[in-house]
Amino acid sequence: MHSKSIVELGAALRAGEFSSVELTRHFIQRIERLDGDLNTLITTTPEQALVEAESADQAVKAGRAGVLTGIPIVQKDIFCTRGVKTSCGSKMLDSFISPYDATVVERLRQAGVVCLGKTNMDEFAMGSSNETSFYGPVRNPWDRERVPGGSSGGSAAAVAARLAVAATGTDTGGSIRQPAALCGVTGLKPTYGRVSRFGMIAFASSLDQAGPMTRNAEDAALLLQAMAGFDPKDSTCANEAVPDYSSTLEDSLEGLKIGLPREYFDAGLDPAVATSVEAAIEVYKRLGARVIDISLPNSGLAVPTYYVVAPAECSSNLSRFDGVRFGYRCKEPKDLEDLYKRSRGEGFGAEVKRRIMIGAYVLSAGYYDAYYLKAQKTRHLISDDFKQAFERVDVIMGPTTPTTAFGLGEKMDDPVTMYLNDIYTIATNLAGLPGISLPVEPVKGLPVGLQIIGNYFTEAKILNAAHRFQQETEWHRLKPDLSKQS
Ligand code: GLN
Repeated sequence: MHSKSIVELGAALRAGEFSSVELTRHFIQRIERLDGDLNTLITTTPEQALVEAESADQAVKAGRAGVLTGIPIVQKDIFCTRGVKTSCGSKMLDSFISPYDATVVERLRQAGVVCLGKTNMDEFAMGSSNETSFYGPVRNPWDRERVPGGSSGGSAAAVAARLAVAATGTDTGGSIRQPAALCGVTGLKPTYGRVSRFGMIAFASSLDQAGPMTRNAEDAALLLQAMAGFDPKDSTCANEAVPDYSSTLEDSLEGLKIGLPREYFDAGLDPAVATSVEAAIEVYKRLGARVIDISLPNSGLAVPTYYVVAPAECSSNLSRFDGVRFGYRCKEPKDLEDLYKRSRGEGFGAEVKRRIMIGAYVLSAGYYDAYYLKAQKTRHLISDDFKQAFERVDVIMGPTTPTTAFGLGEKMDDPVTMYLNDIYTIATNLAGLPGISLPVEPVKGLPVGLQIIGNYFTEAKILNAAHRFQQETEWHRLKPDLSKQS
């Protein structure tokens, strides 16, 4: 049961093969049995899940079931969930019970999903390995001595380990695509503004975007359908019509123009990962696509630009967690200053503090022009590269990450090496473009991701390209052998 996709399970539920309550119980038991070790979930909500499953079963009986009715999923702990702890992976919000639902949560609820719990993540979504979480690292189900990627590492690992059918994630610089790649699942970061950010705890507001993490592109289309669309509660949410993502999945790829940026196949790319990605591109050629070499000349500026823009925005967004208005409050403060200092000092972890300090520095009067303004200009150059590329090609393909999953603890002492993990994903966020990562041939038993980047609001096109590939290949069906390692 647990290896089936949303599409397969939805059909089985509607055909009465089993009930959502049975399905939900099955996943609850898997979580109890396997998650102690993997640590993919910060909070589990089994009682609530069973109540939701019962009402899904009633909807099925009444003939009111939609494609997502009764499907058990997990939500990244960055999304506010009414009545349930929403920690964002931080001690700062360890005791925060949200009084309302994020729009993403509300929309998925309305679509009838069952929520099994909230997934582990890097603290405030800052990280590429899930090791900055206050709740401890998540282990990669393919090799428990390795990281699952981050910041949506819990979501990716939960889907890979079949602890849920699907998950939500957020992507500010790669946090859906990078863990999807390292855990062998399909992860879609939509166009900036495609999905509402209301109730999604802010990291860097001009970059953050929510998206689905699933077994395959077909499922991603269904989840995105429910998540996407205008929301008056988010002023940056796009008022653009939402197409029917499932209806174009089967479209022919004959004549599709694929751009391969030479900068994404550079010396930093592990040769074995390159071989897997190149083999995937061959599949596209067989499907009738045409490959065109392109250049995104300012790619090298993406990581440095991001590490000015994202910390600047985070230093502003996280100023609300001061122990007075929001978040953890220290014990017995001497005075107001002591309360601020100790609440923030004790509530935030090292990586979050590093980002806040960098952000405050680049925004300070003396350095604003040299760093923040400069970064806004380089951000423009990066967007222009993509604009020019999309005049010649329909989609851009390349690796999602330079290597497969690295060891737990391997990069924690070297932030710059850690930051370089997102070298192929970050530019997409700076430009606001959509991107998907899907599993291709593993290297030494570890998953590898192919990234497909599309033009603005062309999620349907990249889902179509991903789905056609998955019809030709079996990589997305591979699953980790959990019995072997524990
Ligand atoms: N790894 C990047 C960072 O630490 C991206 C994180 C994200 O996309 N949320 O900022």
